[in-house]
This record gives sequence, structure tokens and C-alpha cells, in this order.
Amino acid sequence: MTHLDSITLTKTIPCLAEPGKIIVIGKPSCALDEVIPYLATLPGVIAYNPFACTLTFRRPRGFMTLYSGEITITQVDNAEEGLKLLEALKEAINATWEHRAELIPVTSIQKAPRLLDVWELLPRSNCGDCGEATCMAFAASLLLGNRLPDECPIIHSNPAFADRRSALLTITDSQGGT
Ligand code: SF4
Repeated sequence: MTHLDSITLTKTIPCLAEPGKIIVIGKPSCALDEVIPYLATLPGVIAYNPFACTLTFRRPRGFMTLYSGEITITQVDNAEEGLKLLEALKEAINATWEHRAELIPVTSIQKAPRLLDVWELLPRSNCGDCGEATCMAFAASLLLGNRLPDECPIIHSNPAFADRRSALLTITDSQGGT
């Protein structure tokens, strides 16, 4: 990576867990695999898997997940806010890359989830299909290692939750690579 010229907003989809909000999907103008280990040193990391090259940050609301060729931001108000967030992220990525000599890249799986983080990653419909009464109960079971993310059918198969599924798999050690 030399310099990230742009992140193009390629798609928006409804945020099922937050009616009225959208998920913004962006495509960076160059691959992010080299800079992601440096971005993983920044605060707010919930889950990082260097082997799958996925990095999820906590936002004031929702999450942001970076892959080598794609970025997903949840709970965004509208496309205009999405464009601003992607522009700010581009600046942060370039600043991190320029200062990488001062940083130690992270090469191991990182996870620092709080119960509320895990709950927010779930669909939060309390449908009961996983056998738990609520998504919060399922989140607690995930953190205890008693359940697996894919035991929630929505996480397992709904493409709108693919980014949150990868974070949940890292958090719960359900993803290989170590
Ligand atoms: S299956 Fe469980 S975790 Fe998934 S949305 Fe329903 S209650 Fe929540």
C-alpha cells in the first residue's frame, strides 16, 4: 500500500437490528491487508483476525469492519453520513500508514468484547429461535463459550450479518487460524 486515494460507497442496505438505519459498504481504492495490522493497534478493537484479515471496531453506535477489499459500517443514519464516515476513515488509514514506523503491527488474534458489544452484534429481535429467551441471554452464553454464533439462524445465514458473524466467530474462537 502506498496511499489510499479513496473509499467508494458501493452499497447501502437496511440495518435489520436498527430500523431506519443503514449499513454502508465501501470499497477502498487499494488493498488494505498491509495496513490492517497497524490499524489493529488503535483503540476500540473488538475483534481482529490477522489470518482472515478482518478487523472490527466499536463505534459510538454500531460497528465498523475492515477487510482487505471492503469496509462495512453499521447503524449509519443515511448515505451522506456514510460518505463522511468513509472519508474520515480514509484519512485515518493514511495517517496510520504514514506513522507505521512508530507502531508495532499486531499479528495475533485480538478480542476485547463486552457483553453489550456481543449483544449489539446480534440481530436483537429476541425471536427465540436459538433456544434462548432473548438475544442478551444468547450473548451471555456466547461469552461463556456455551453457544456458537451460528446457533442463531440469522447470524448463520443472513448475508446482511456477514460482517458481524466474522467478528462473533473471532470473539468466540469459532474461527480457525491459530
Ligand atoms: S436466534 Fe437467538 S440470538 Fe438470534 S435473533 Fe433470535 S433470540 Fe436473538
